[in-house]
Amino acid sequence: MNAEVIRGSCLCGTVTYETRAPTLFCAHCHCQFCRRAHGAAVVTWFGVAEDTFRLISGETHLTWYDSSEQSRRAFCAKCGTTLLFASKLCPGEMHIALATATTPIDQEPQVHVFVDQKVSWIHCSDTLPRLTQESEALSKYRDVSVTSSFTEVTKEE
Ligand SMILES: [Zn+2]
Ligand SMILES: [Zn+2]
Repeated sequence: MNAEVIRGSCLCGTVTYETRAPTLFCAHCHCQFCRRAHGAAVVTWFGVAEDTFRLISGETHLTWYDSSEQSRRAFCAKCGTTLLFASKLCPGEMHIALATATTPIDQEPQVHVFVDQKVSWIHCSDTLPRLTQESEALSKYRDVSVTSSFTEVTKEE
């Protein structure tokens, strides 16, 4: 057994994948795109080098949706599980929803990102750093323009 191998699956088990540690990052994302796409307040992602990512099964069911001009997200057409994110803004990376991993990864979440878009009905009390859209570390994602069907959620303040 290779301890570095990370495996994952959608809910129905049609789409399965395999990748390898070391992972590039692990982060809780509070952005509106993730929220809508996953139907969840926050989505925890880990990143890997794209060339270590391999689809094991379900290629015909894995459907890519262009969530912006630069980025796309993949889900299982059978069960709806949202699994993947890839973007021209982070070439060479594959981002994977941690909740779909069926084996442990090599790190804990390190940061909250896009906390300026966070919903008011979730309270995070951990001590991890919190980055906003304005943070330098997220500057490469700053230019994302929303698609026409996407409406801004009213902020709490
Ligand atoms: Zn599925
Ligand atoms: Zn996000």
